[in-house]
Amino acid sequence: MNIPLIDLKAQNKAIGSELMNQIENVMSSTQFIMGPEVKAFEMNFSKYLGVKHAISCGNGTDALVIALEALGIGEGDEVITTPYTFFATGESIAYVGATPVFVDVEADSFNIDVTKIEAAITPRTKAIMPVHLFGNACDMDEIMQIADRNNLYVIEDACQAIGGEYKGRKLGTIGHIACFSFFPTKNLGAAGDGGMIIANDDQIAIICKAIKAHGSGENGQKASNFLNGMTEEIIIDQNEDNTVYNPFKYYNYLIGHNSRLDEIQAAILNVKLKYLDEWNTARIDHAEVYTQTLHPFEQSLKFTLPKVASHVKHVYHMYILRAENKSALIQHLKDNGVSTGVYYPVPLHLQKAFLQLGYKKGDFPVAEYLSERTFAIPMYAELTHSQQMSICEIIKRFRL
Ligand SMILES: *Cc1c(COP(=O)(O)O)cnc(C)c1O
Repeated sequence: MNIPLIDLKAQNKAIGSELMNQIENVMSSTQFIMGPEVKAFEMNFSKYLGVKHAISCGNGTDALVIALEALGIGEGDEVITTPYTFFATGESIAYVGATPVFVDVEADSFNIDVTKIEAAITPRTKAIMPVHLFGNACDMDEIMQIADRNNLYVIEDACQAIGGEYKGRKLGTIGHIACFSFFPTKNLGAAGDGGMIIANDDQIAIICKAIKAHGSGENGQKASNFLNGMTEEIIIDQNEDNTVYNPFKYYNYLIGHNSRLDEIQAAILNVKLKYLDEWNTARIDHAEVYTQTLHPFEQSLKFTLPKVASHVKHVYHMYILRAENKSALIQHLKDNGVSTGVYYPVPLHLQKAFLQLGYKKGDFPVAEYLSERTFAIPMYAELTHSQQMSICEIIKRFRL
């Protein structure tokens, strides 16, 4: 028996032919960049979340970079975030020239400890970037209140939490701006890279639209007008078909990026978005099965199962165990054909790439404690009950 951590082939089996049809449609249209599928996906996604603007881009990391840039965050600024996350969270902050300022996490939710945020605020702080890790919501009420009191932006890194909720509100719709990733293994995954920025503010949205594509055209000019407080007239020829040939494309107003979601990925995501709620429900059911079955063994086998607050809809991007004998348990699962994944072995403040920030071991004891103990067991919508029962049986046979 072999059970993978994530089984994308099972998903292909279920909807592969529907996806192939979409891919063939795009191939025969030959419209590969910023075509109708991208437009439709941005619309479908904004409807799904109930927000005004969804701006697609190349990947989740770019989404974070573009969001920071659109808020004017850069050199000399500080952004508060968690050290217990995927590297891209801190990387995006450093990439725009700002300084990531880490705040320790809570041992139960794995998310930023809101009681420690205010002590980290300085006159240079511009934003808080909470991460809804593994699909579990941060304490957004508290984070928004801290942000309001201190005049800070909130950038939600919702890359792992699409469809998740906090007090009935969708994650990614609570902060000033939010970012999603469509990396293939995320809950909504493309067949390659993809990302999305969510904003309700019209100006921020226009700036994102402009800088994701070379700061050119109508969006570039509008964004540049906002940023420079100008009212230069925007002349658009309504008779031009801007989707095929955009004469304004070669007029550039801002320095931006080439970070676009391509048409084939958008076509795939348009199909998959229809299944997202169903898949998330399956993940939640699987999590319930794991938790019910393994709960009686927490003490004897020295591991802790995920905890979820009652006001949170956790979408289980990953189902994470926190084990005292992590390596032995991982080896035991491996010996019995069950794959696992270690998320995350090195907290960001101890990553070599962030050496210049001057952190040391012991600075964030909870994040360090977790990074030594946490790992993921198989979780995907198509996981079967019998597979889950086998995994649980194998775990029960573990001897310390
Ligand atoms: C996946 C992920 C990202 C980056 O997304 P990519 O699409 O891989 O660039 C950022 N933050 C978190 C928390 C993620 O899980």
